[in-house]
Amino acid sequence: MKIYSARAFFSHYSRASGAGLVALAAFVLVSTGPAYSADRRVALKAARLFDGKSKTLISNGVVIVAGGKIADVGSNLAIPADAQVIDLGDATLSPGFMDAHTHLTLDYSGDYIRNRWTELTTNVSEQALRAATFARATLEAGFTTVRDLGSRFVGSHEFVDVALRNGINKGLVVGPRMLVATYGVGATGGHFDATAGFRDMLFGFEPRFHEGIADGPDEIRKTVRFEVKNGADVIKAAVSGGVLSLADEVDTPQFTADEMKALVDESHRLRKKVAVHCHGDQAAKEAITAGVDSIEHGSFMKPDTIALMKTKGAFLTPTLMATYWILNKLDLYPPPLQAKAKAAGAARSEMFRNAVKAGVKISFGTDAAVFPHGQNAREFKLMVDLGMAPIDALISATSADAELLGISHKVGTLEKGKLADIIAMPGDPTADITATERVNFVMKEGEIIRNGPASQKPTTAAADLIDAELPAD
Ligand SMILES: [Zn+2]
Repeated sequence: MKIYSARAFFSHYSRASGAGLVALAAFVLVSTGPAYSADRRVALKAARLFDGKSKTLISNGVVIVAGGKIADVGSNLAIPADAQVIDLGDATLSPGFMDAHTHLTLDYSGDYIRNRWTELTTNVSEQALRAATFARATLEAGFTTVRDLGSRFVGSHEFVDVALRNGINKGLVVGPRMLVATYGVGATGGHFDATAGFRDMLFGFEPRFHEGIADGPDEIRKTVRFEVKNGADVIKAAVSGGVLSLADEVDTPQFTADEMKALVDESHRLRKKVAVHCHGDQAAKEAITAGVDSIEHGSFMKPDTIALMKTKGAFLTPTLMATYWILNKLDLYPPPLQAKAKAAGAARSEMFRNAVKAGVKISFGTDAAVFPHGQNAREFKLMVDLGMAPIDALISATSADAELLGISHKVGTLEKGKLADIIAMPGDPTADITATERVNFVMKEGEIIRNGPASQKPTTAAADLIDAELPAD
């Protein structure tokens, strides 16, 4: 029997604020029965329940949790006599949110040049320790699963994302379930070339497959194999230029159609899905034709490309928060990046509206690291402001993301037999989508991570910046 010992429980609150300690004390006081164990049933109650796939909320929601899984779920369920009851009141229960596009090991949220300096001068082990705080902030914000799309430290061959994922799985670090991409795959001089924009040979090497840089179908296959060998769950590639890279145009293609074919073929042969960073329209068309599973960003996609996407069943991960954040802090980026951000920002609102109208599958993903970790839920309001129904935005962050990540059999909905990844937020998120930003209860696989205030303040570079309101389009 797996016991959630007092030590494990305390570890969740030991670094917590006073409120956390009060919560621990309250738990100890109500816990008069046998030791809290995964076998003991817990009944979660709230005024409303979102099951992750239905278009309407259920009233008087109850979820019975036992053994880390959902034993039963429904409206006004009878509560077993031996269950510990947690009544969340005027709140909405939901499957744990997912973010299909994070970079938990990185932080680009503050001043761009200062960030680059920090990245180049800080020991990679220290950056890994910081990543553990980002993981906790993300989980405490209600995101119980993330697809982490790229982790690289120029001149280092460390796989910090793999270490973080494994540390979380082994209980060494508190954080969301992670699917990781390691370095990603990119072209020489492209968005993923960490030496681009610096003097030639400044770092003493020209990046190759073991830095995630490949040119030509054969090298691309080798890079995919190398990343899977080192722990990648998903393959990420940059097939067009990007905003925060120094030596490329934002929308130019960076792989040929043959290179993209090799990328998708090799990844799928190894049973890994392919997510491509892509702003440009031509690159998106070629990537969708090649059979990628998701287009990340998609800023300049035209209606015919969106129609192709719908036909092929590829997901769009819009990452509206990334452009929103950069446009809000434009003076913190060098002028060439400002111009790229403005162009991508000007195009992406119409693209997103068109994608919603066309009924393209939309996966919730934010590009967290561009903005401070733990603020992922702000993406919901941006989606709704651009025409997505609140319930569809909630579906995108639960069952849709689970489908894209290939983990629907385990998580993404509140259904009998699924893992007990359950969160709650005050009020009704379909009436006020910003309720998603106020998650105050988080359970991961039956373990209570948070029931009340979060344990820490954001720790990222831009945590202290004042965030002016900016219209979504
Ligand atoms: Zn990204």
